[in-house]
Amino acid sequence: MIHEDLEAAINDQINQELTASYNYLGMSVRFDSENLDGFASWMLMQHDEEKVHAMKLLQYLQDRGGKVSLNAVPAPISGYTSPLEVFKKALETEVENTKSINKLYETALRLNDHATTSHLQWFLDEQVEEEKSIEDIIALLERVGDDSAGLLYLDDKLGSRKPEEEEL
Ligand code: MG
Repeated sequence: MIHEDLEAAINDQINQELTASYNYLGMSVRFDSENLDGFASWMLMQHDEEKVHAMKLLQYLQDRGGKVSLNAVPAPISGYTSPLEVFKKALETEVENTKSINKLYETALRLNDHATTSHLQWFLDEQVEEEKSIEDIIALLERVGDDSAGLLYLDDKLGSRKPEEEEL
């Protein structure tokens, strides 16, 4: 059995991953409506990845005999004025997510739940990747500025991203 504090914290994290997934879906829809298909496809992959994160935690909680509580997922953030703003918001939410995984990890440490700290190690590593990939795109968008040819080049580049499984 898993400690109730950890059960609650993992349930919160499942909700956070699903919220992130839904936000990325909203970002994908926004890019698609502007005919930026490469950006839209990149965001759709983020959407899928976050769903996988939620499922990994959900499965883990079930495996440990914990009770999964699925709560409401808020509507995606909207009202972005530029691609740069979208990615800045994405980074902000990933940074928040890293903090929340760190807190979850600390809870597992405090309760001497080594199986959970081991499971969370993958998430800590994944957050480093998430933040880095978004920071790289922000840097490119800042260089592109108002240059629409640069933006279309970046759209093409992001459109070539392959789903993670295929990269292995
Ligand atoms: Mg995630």
